Amino acid sequence: MSRESGVRTFRGEEGYWKEHRAEDLASIEGIRRDPFLVWEWYRKRLRACDDLVPHEGYRALARLQELRGKLPAITQNVDGLHQKAGLTDVIELHGSLRTASCIDDCGGPTFAMTQQLLSRIPPKCRCGSILRPDVVLFGEQLPLNALKRAFRLAESCDLMLVIGTSMAVFPASELPIAALRNGARIIEINVEPTPISPLSNVISIQGEAGKVLPKIVEALEKP
Ligand code: ZN
Repeated sequence: MSRESGVRTFRGEEGYWKEHRAEDLASIEGIRRDPFLVWEWYRKRLRACDDLVPHEGYRALARLQELRGKLPAITQNVDGLHQKAGLTDVIELHGSLRTASCIDDCGGPTFAMTQQLLSRIPPKCRCGSILRPDVVLFGEQLPLNALKRAFRLAESCDLMLVIGTSMAVFPASELPIAALRNGARIIEINVEPTPISPLSNVISIQGEAGKVLPKIVEALEKP
């Protein structure tokens, strides 16, 4: 989803990890070792995210949510583009780039990640410790409540849309499997086939989410 709106991905040809070592930028140790370097990098990422406009695929999902009432979205993206497009129920498995909190977990407030917060690098908590972005860093567990809810939804849904994922990252890659195991059907939209494409009860559409999703929603809206 996000790559089509211009967000750089981590893996793949243009991925961040070609330029930096993941452990240096996206770990608690990395932030403590060189908060300036890490926060400069997050400031750049945040600025890039601020400029992004969600593509038509996001808007189609928001419309679908309007049409169907409940439509929770589960995402590994941290850029907030779903919310920017108007989706209201977004489960962020890898946390969010939109907030930051105390690296020492002092129980203080959560800070909105604005350019103003990042006007001084590294940003600090009220207790004096540096802040960390509320994204899941290397070596950290995924947020348990989000994960539990995602699996509950997968296990109880009739239909799951699986959009723009290579199924490479565990445990999110298990969600479609959980849905299938419980008798759900899947519509998969991706630019290339994935391990679930050939499975029965999966309709696999090859293409970009920004082009395919609006067509699906348009078809739904026809009387
Ligand atoms: Zn603190």
